[in-house]
Amino acid sequence: MSIKENVERILKEIPKSVKVEAAAKTKTAEEIEEAIESGITIIGQNYMKDFKNTYWSVSLKAEWHFIGSCKTQKHDLLKPKFLHVIDMIETIDDYEFAKALDEKLKALNKVMPVLIEVNSAEEPQKSGIMPGDVIGFAKRIAIFENVKIDGLMTMGPAIEPEGLRKYFKLTKELFDELKNALGIELNTLSMGMTDSYKVAIEEGANLIRIGRAIFGERIYT
Ligand SMILES: *Cc1c(COP(=O)(O)O)cnc(C)c1O
Repeated sequence: MSIKENVERILKEIPKSVKVEAAAKTKTAEEIEEAIESGITIIGQNYMKDFKNTYWSVSLKAEWHFIGSCKTQKHDLLKPKFLHVIDMIETIDDYEFAKALDEKLKALNKVMPVLIEVNSAEEPQKSGIMPGDVIGFAKRIAIFENVKIDGLMTMGPAIEPEGLRKYFKLTKELFDELKNALGIELNTLSMGMTDSYKVAIEEGANLIRIGRAIFGERIYT
């Protein structure tokens, strides 16, 4: 199956209200362009190296999201030339990073929507805020003027999709709770990948992040 066929099939089978983000790690600018030509409007990158290698070579318009580890890549991520062109960071899970991001954005006169990453299965080595800490963390971030909370994101453990349902359900509950706690409209609930996006949509995701089902299996060299 070509990228075009994959994108068209996915877009046809999901509700119109759900946005598809192409998770493009290891993929070339040409592959990303083919995805955009086929109807993808959001590109997600985990690694600043991939971002640098592709962003300036893709001539078609799309939103670019960062979906990788902020902590380990903050040196690059916080550079004005990248902050200037990144539309959303989906992986906010550290107060000091969010504070530094807010300061850098202020200098650029830019407001950026962000998602708080939830460690929905409370996995010890994983990134994300523990479910019980999400509301408190969000309230601390909500005071920033240039970093604007737009919702939640979760990965969940590498298990079969039906096993992920309870973590997606929990993240949706936190999403609704957070709207009340902050008293603002939140637009984005990012959950679900190639193997799990159908379950995620059933549980309320309105942004799904798809890599392999669009581009094929990843080959790491
Ligand atoms: C790689 C990745 C995806 C997509 O995973 P697939 O299984 O290839 O669909 C989604 N989200 C994040 C954060 C990723 O790193």
